[in-house]
Amino acid sequence: MSPTASSPASSAPIALHDRFGRAIDYLRISLTDRCNLRCAYCMPTEGLSFAPDAELLDAAEIETVVRAAAELGFRKVRLTGGEPLLRTDVVDIVRRIAAVDGIADISLTTNGIRLPQLAAPLKAAGLRRVNVHIDTLQPENLKRLMRWGRLEDLWAGLGAAEAAGLVPIKVNAVIARGFNDEDVVGLAALSLDHDWTVRFIELMPLGSGQESRFAIDRYVPNHEVKARIVAALGPLEALPNADLADESRNFRLAGAPGRVGFISPVSEPYCGTCNRMRLTADGKLHLCLLHDDELDLRAALRGGGGPEALRAILARAVAAKPTGHALNRGIHTEARRMHAIGG
Ligand code: SAM
Ligand code: SF4
Repeated sequence: MSPTASSPASSAPIALHDRFGRAIDYLRISLTDRCNLRCAYCMPTEGLSFAPDAELLDAAEIETVVRAAAELGFRKVRLTGGEPLLRTDVVDIVRRIAAVDGIADISLTTNGIRLPQLAAPLKAAGLRRVNVHIDTLQPENLKRLMRWGRLEDLWAGLGAAEAAGLVPIKVNAVIARGFNDEDVVGLAALSLDHDWTVRFIELMPLGSGQESRFAIDRYVPNHEVKARIVAALGPLEALPNADLADESRNFRLAGAPGRVGFISPVSEPYCGTCNRMRLTADGKLHLCLLHDDELDLRAALRGGGGPEALRAILARAVAAKPTGHALNRGIHTEARRMHAIGG
């Protein structure tokens, strides 16, 4: 790992590098493991247990962690969950993070249901942009896949994000065979009318429950999604990747203001350019989405060690970050489902 040092050109700290030479400067913070939906590949409808409130990091603790991370060269923060907009203090959390020196970008991943109430206050608090999750524009299919979701609510969320200037908007859609694989054309066509990036995400098995079985049985490789879109809407022009750590390969339909992206962790793993560290809502550094390794940041935070102890554990987490996964050999993370990590 490279030492934490000031670059000669500026006083900003240089990002930590892991043992595979990856610069880790992106912290994804899960605010809750709860959700107002029950997407079939993410959460079961029964038998769930959630972290008690006392175990969740509060707004001040999250700010303290982000400050320590920024001192180590972290530059980007994304809030996720579960559904991050269920946290009643989400605006306060954004305001605190926005005030941390060195954090250049704060974004949030959401199912959008609470955006009509929250988009404007979040923007005013310093949130820059959102990713909104909507798997299909077909109400019946949406009900089957996102279960408690209603198209009009998700659509209202997208509109509210746009009206509040939480842009550029990314639309995330997870594709499952027999549920929404035929709806990808309608989703991709959104990029013809909106300056959005519509991104298709391959299903990943996480946890050891029925959702992980679902993800294996219903998996659709992105080359199939892409072929379906091209057959219906015409060629996709490849766009250069402005950010090498962007996990999405982006394209444009002729004449479209928006873009179509493919996130293909199973068929085209992008571990080599991973730049992220994940913090779970209950304060564990989860070193890689597709591995079970964790370090307990909350214990350091609540043990009274101060900023130095936090920086030390963050640096240890970066040093221990694994690479590579074995999804194509049927091996996956067992201990947590997606909603309990933060996608
Ligand atoms: N609730 C918010 C949402 O749905 O955007 C934030 C959390 S959710 C876990 C983040 C992203 O993970 C969503 O875009 C969702 O589609 C994706 N996701 C959830 N489970 C997944 C799985 N098993 N495989 C691939 N993507 C998944
Ligand atoms: Fe909730 Fe997001 Fe998981 Fe769907 S994917 S159940 S919206 S956390």
